[in-house]
Amino acid sequence: MPAATNFVRGKTTLWILIVFSLTVPGCTNIGPTGSVYTTPKTYVQFINLPKINPKGESKTKYKDPNKTGTVLYDTKGQKAKQLSPYFTVSEFTHSGDTSFRYARINKKLVNCLANIRAYFGAPININSSYRSWQYNNKLIRKGLKASKKSYHMSGAAADFSVKGVAITRVADIAYKLCGCGIGVGVANQWMHIDVRGYSTRPWGYSKKNLENLKSARYHHRKQCGKGRRSDEESIFGTFINEVKPVLNDLEKTIEKFLKF
Ligand SMILES: [Zn+2]
Repeated sequence: MPAATNFVRGKTTLWILIVFSLTVPGCTNIGPTGSVYTTPKTYVQFINLPKINPKGESKTKYKDPNKTGTVLYDTKGQKAKQLSPYFTVSEFTHSGDTSFRYARINKKLVNCLANIRAYFGAPININSSYRSWQYNNKLIRKGLKASKKSYHMSGAAADFSVKGVAITRVADIAYKLCGCGIGVGVANQWMHIDVRGYSTRPWGYSKKNLENLKSARYHHRKQCGKGRRSDEESIFGTFINEVKPVLNDLEKTIEKFLKF
């Protein structure tokens, strides 16, 4: 029956077209500096470093509180190794001046930063990436603000800046380049990104960052919808927290008024 054959053939062609359009890599775009980038692009398929399966005390020392499944690697003698066209292993295995031999490195994070690097066509400076569970606890004991579930311990977070690019511009484009499953924290001179896998509202690090934060939140909502409140939002605060004291005062005034 020719009509039926044509119908089947038509449907098959349609499916081939749909599958093809879904598998074709992202469109080629021109970045703000004239850089040509393709987004989203997978720069790193796998990480070729010796894997470590920690036992006993080490299991706690290098614990991933978020259970992301990010592998712990032994990076001894591998620090200069290239992880992607833009980054070396050492850039993902330190927290400030402290470098870790055993470190978790999440390839989604490397790919996210590589896409940002390609988009702006400018170098990225990573201030802090992996930090061990033991080291994170040390920071908390010292009285520093750090999340007990920080994605830095999962090897899935980085604090960084893009040379010559305002933080607000990076934060605003991050959801387009890295998807909605990221956590974004903004400061004035640097920002935090982690690849947690679910949408969360951006947070700020100080009162001075409100404008950056408002902008990041606007772009997050536009791109990804409402999003969850994160641990970081409770720890570091947001402009909503800035508004809170004013609301509390207002509530007290209303209560007083109602008593009379
Ligand atoms: Zn961070």
